Amino acid sequence: MGSERLYSLPPLPYDYKDLTPHMSEEQLRVHHMKHHQAYVNGANAILQRLEKARREGADLDMKATLKELSFNIGGHVLHSLFWGNLAPPRGAKEPGGALGKAIADEFGSFERFKKEFSQAAISVEGSGWAALSWCRQTGRPIIMQIEKHNANVYPMFRILMVLDVFEHAYYMDYKNERAKFVEAFWNLVDWEAVNKRLEEAMR
Ligand code: MN
Repeated sequence: MGSERLYSLPPLPYDYKDLTPHMSEEQLRVHHMKHHQAYVNGANAILQRLEKARREGADLDMKATLKELSFNIGGHVLHSLFWGNLAPPRGAKEPGGALGKAIADEFGSFERFKKEFSQAAISVEGSGWAALSWCRQTGRPIIMQIEKHNANVYPMFRILMVLDVFEHAYYMDYKNERAKFVEAFWNLVDWEAVNKRLEEAMR
């Protein structure tokens, strides 16, 4: 299998120091270079393990293998989305365009959306994510609370924006205070990028 058929760590669209003071350079560096890389490596190792077993005609514990694969691919995909919906804290503070309208229609106001999304993030049991997703069937933005990297995901819903609330995402900056990290996150959302994802999902 050529490396083009494996996962790789995407570069960040900004510098490691660009998200300060809300996310420190050290925190972001470790998160991207160590944690995200570990999911990339983990997913690739399992793909190669599957290939080897197929080549040798050997049996694998499919249940355990696919569970591990889902966790690692989920981790890779969600982190890639996460980096893409963050930006240095100088952009718009609220969404405009189709996203602004979809949020106002569904939640009544941006403040209400922010409150629900924050509560979703803060209350994730253990490790996981809050995600804003788009349901094509109903034309509604729907908040997902994802446990680990792969539980509670709605199949086929397009994910527009995610917030990582694994402790590894914030422990260096905020210790155990997840709510402070969630509050800081709002300074880093790239609303233009999230709106672009929505426009693509609506097409
Ligand atoms: Mn993470």
